[in-house]
Amino acid sequence: MLQQAMSRAEPFDVVVIGGGATGAGVAVDAASRGLSTLLLEREDFGKATSSRSTKLVHGGVRYLEQGNISLVMGALRERGILRRNAPHLVHDVPFVVPNYSWWETPFYGIGLRIYDLLAGQYGFGKSKILSREETLERLPTLRQDGLRGGVIYHDGQFDDARLLIHLLATSADHGATVLNYAPAVEIRKGPDGFICGVVAEDRESAQRFTVDASVVINATGIFADETRRLADPSAPPIMVPSQGIHLVLDGSFLRGNTAIMVPHTSDGRVLFAIPWHGHTVVGTTDTPIDAPSYEPRPFEHEIAFVLETASEYLSHPPRREDVLSVFVGIRPLVKLTGAGPTTTSALSRDHTVHIDDSGLLTIAGGKWTTYRHMAEDTVDHAIMLGKLPERPCVTRELKIHGYIENAATTGDLAVYGSDAELIRALALESPRLGEPLDPSLPSIAAEVIWAVREEMARTVEDVLARRTRALFLNARAALRMAPAVAALMAAEMGRDQAWIDGELARFQALAAQYLPPLHPETGEPADR
Ligand SMILES: Cc1cc2nc3c(=O)[nH]c(=O)nc-3n(C[C@H](O)[C@H](O)[C@H](O)COP(=O)(O)OP(=O)(O)OC[C@H]3O[C@@H](n4cnc5c(N)ncnc54)[C@H](O)[C@@H]3O)c2cc1C
Repeated sequence: MLQQAMSRAEPFDVVVIGGGATGAGVAVDAASRGLSTLLLEREDFGKATSSRSTKLVHGGVRYLEQGNISLVMGALRERGILRRNAPHLVHDVPFVVPNYSWWETPFYGIGLRIYDLLAGQYGFGKSKILSREETLERLPTLRQDGLRGGVIYHDGQFDDARLLIHLLATSADHGATVLNYAPAVEIRKGPDGFICGVVAEDRESAQRFTVDASVVINATGIFADETRRLADPSAPPIMVPSQGIHLVLDGSFLRGNTAIMVPHTSDGRVLFAIPWHGHTVVGTTDTPIDAPSYEPRPFEHEIAFVLETASEYLSHPPRREDVLSVFVGIRPLVKLTGAGPTTTSALSRDHTVHIDDSGLLTIAGGKWTTYRHMAEDTVDHAIMLGKLPERPCVTRELKIHGYIENAATTGDLAVYGSDAELIRALALESPRLGEPLDPSLPSIAAEVIWAVREEMARTVEDVLARRTRALFLNARAALRMAPAVAALMAAEMGRDQAWIDGELARFQALAAQYLPPLHPETGEPADR
């Protein structure tokens, strides 16, 4: 891939800066329209927001409450398209809104019926009012006193980092060149002042190289303003960062495949408790922050809020020491001009295509769920801007890498879709490769080899945070797995002991940030 990028003499039709959901979606769209495409990612793919979502492919019940019907309808359509094109990664999860007041059942019953109607042909399953007994059958761990019943509805769930890798693989299958650890460090302009390419850097060799492009697309999410300033140092900011945290608990906090949705928390948001890879993910928050960063830390008040709200609904209230991992993401919200809403939770989740005077095309905002529609819109604009050959978007019907029906029947490797068979074959090459890396998680050694050979994993963190999800599921287990992962990677990549030592030190420092912090007053430890 690096050779392809460095040795190319003619301009790329499209250079995409940013390897998160948005950039990967644009690369798939552009490459599948037959446009020559290069994607540059500064860190690892998905290092920023796109591996830190709540893992929902959804219309957004909350946006329905805000009256944003077109956003909800668009997202519900995309939810249906994504499940059709990546059935190995997106599946239906039943959600129950538990009702403790007399008015909640009719209120949420009607609201969720509207949600069903808006989904139309893309519906996942009908919502239904549940009796108290039916609610407890689905959610045996729910707090029982005062419970009147519930409303069940359906939405989609996925593994965000895995879908991202499969989108990048799809783009590569259509001829795109994609690079991680390769930042765009300069945006180049021609004599007319219009953008004509970028200077990129291969971080492993510190070698810089020049790339020509008809259109440069800025898909750098929370870093979009920083990238715009590469082209125009005086570009006024449009991004408003806001962070959200998730606490990961043992699967026993939900027992079963049904999620809980709390439509009105004390801060006016929605809280989810969702079964994910055998664990329970609880979140999220919406806290405005000053500046974007790659490893945002949870605020103490956010941890307290999520634990307290979950405790109001669960018969066995989660305590700080039950938390296996804490992960935090930053929303790339856009505020264009004027005085809009003052709280970040009220800022629109619609996407924005913005073209600066230099011709830099920025795509920002939106949601993981709507990445495909965002990409279609972006490439339509790019074709006009760069006077590229007009070719229609084909992604509505495009199967995503790994496509396979009934993936769930294939066991622990289901998220790999059709690649699972190849990983299983790899595991058969030596008994060592079929072994789990830690008893508390299903990841096997063959996945590490696969990640290095086929998925461009370069560091222990890439494998443990995003090719497998160990760090996000159980930070202590990930720490235990790290030495074996480093040794497997070093053998595969031809690295020495110094590389192993450096990787382990870096990973230990990182994983410490995913462990639940001690209570500031009691110093209560986390003992798992
Ligand atoms: C807490 C939280 C929960 C969420 N939950 C959901 C959900 O359940 N469902 C849903 O649909 N959406 C959800 N979202 C929204 C969704 O995650 C985001 O909209 C989406 O991931 C944004 O993707 P992105 O590609 O725009 O940004 P990012 O994933 O941040 O990608 C931008 C990339 O650009 C790279 N970059 C920056 N500068 C450069 C440079 N100079 N050169 C090269 N690369 C560069 C960065 O390294 C980064 O990887 C959630 C968001 C948050 C924060």
